[in-house]
Amino acid sequence: MNVYDSHRMADTLAPAGFVETARPEDADLVILNTCHIREKAAEKVYSEIGRIREMKEAAARDGRHMVIAVAGCVAQAEGKEIIRRAGTVDLVVGSQNYHRLPDMIARAESGEKIVDTEFPVEDKFDVLAAPKHDAIAKRGISAFVTVQEGCDKFCTFCVVPYTRGAEVSRPVEKIVAEVERLTEAGVREVTLIGQNVNAYHGLGPDGRPSTLGKLLRRLAEVRGLLRLRYTTSHPRDMNADLVAAHAELAKLMPYVHLPVQTGSDRILAAMNRKHTRRDYLDVVARLRAGRADLAFTSDFIVGFPGETEADFRQTLTLVEEVGYAGAFSFMYSARPGTPAAEMTDPVPEGEKSDRLQRLQAVITRYQRSFNAGCAGRTIDVLLEKPGRLAGQIVGRSPYLQAVQVMAPARLIGSVRRVTVTEVGSNSLFGVLADETSTPALVTAGA
Ligand code: SAM
Ligand code: SF4
Repeated sequence: MNVYDSHRMADTLAPAGFVETARPEDADLVILNTCHIREKAAEKVYSEIGRIREMKEAAARDGRHMVIAVAGCVAQAEGKEIIRRAGTVDLVVGSQNYHRLPDMIARAESGEKIVDTEFPVEDKFDVLAAPKHDAIAKRGISAFVTVQEGCDKFCTFCVVPYTRGAEVSRPVEKIVAEVERLTEAGVREVTLIGQNVNAYHGLGPDGRPSTLGKLLRRLAEVRGLLRLRYTTSHPRDMNADLVAAHAELAKLMPYVHLPVQTGSDRILAAMNRKHTRRDYLDVVARLRAGRADLAFTSDFIVGFPGETEADFRQTLTLVEEVGYAGAFSFMYSARPGTPAAEMTDPVPEGEKSDRLQRLQAVITRYQRSFNAGCAGRTIDVLLEKPGRLAGQIVGRSPYLQAVQVMAPARLIGSVRRVTVTEVGSNSLFGVLADETSTPALVTAGA
């Protein structure tokens, strides 16, 4: 979501003459788009600000005023505390106010310190500028589109309901128009984004609330669009309509990121996840019944307050039961203002890191076995961009694995049948199935 937001900020600032630079020291404006989900991510912001302050001081010696802005969820959560802790910051902008950036930056350029973290009444999506064709083309053939923001679930560990606010869905027609504009400029794959994307209920053209399943069906009709994905889903919102969409839509990729957090019912209840282990496994089974080759990934938290060794083992057995194609796993991090931060039975740090290592070992084992299962198979690959080696193109399998294949650059943006000849630790290697005479793969450095 921050990638999408950063693009929209750049698009909104383009009419004021701003262009992106790869060298921050050359910039007149640096925006740090931040994440508050775990303490580590939030603290990183201050070390980054320290680094950029030196660039600002060097710019000042050359007579240039560099504006430093902090955006995103740390800005939303900490507000003016950021300027108190780091006086070099000129502007703090919360995640709902990016459409006001041009005005705020003009004021910051004349020396004013600005903090804007209120939740505005106007819809930022109506005001944020649409990207120009050349900006879309530069960003590649796969794009994110935010369809839903915020969350009403209030899991006890999570800051999202406080930093991104209440759940809001964008209307169907606005999303369709955005996807059409992207595909006209060459985008071939769209990932619909939301903190709780399958809770999507934006207004349809008939003025009634839609569903994610209906939205996906509508988007599957967009000419030129080859692939659809969505993330992140909540198990409770995986309704029959969305399950059916997976069985029916060829453009919808057979890959679902479905965070579970823990395999223990006791901890699921303490997390206020509002589902049990059995509910989760039933959702997985329903999805697989409609589309047998579905790959699942997930998010896990280890060391939630009160988690015992027996609870943790339930998480390990859940990984084995589902057989994930991959997963993100984190040590629990207490976030200020959340109910879990007040819980009095923390798991010792050493225990947490030990559990994380054990969990990651099991996840890696399943991920490797999923990847190994692709060897020798012929799969559809969307060719995305030039690879590291001359003549090599990197693409994505339906299951989001990176696939390296020797192919002419003119094929970028198309889906090709690729036979997987080798499985590396981070990517698959393959040859175009209709050109099996292509010379053997170069796998140096794999
Ligand atoms: N909405 C998604 C869901 O329901 O699972 C997740 C959104 S959150 C941005 C991404 C992931 O960060 C979560 O799934 C969780 O695993 C992790 N996370 C959130 N809060 C955390 C915390 N306090 N400590 C550790 N990990 C956390
Ligand atoms: Fe956070 Fe996801 Fe729970 Fe919402 S559903 S509170 S975003 S973890």
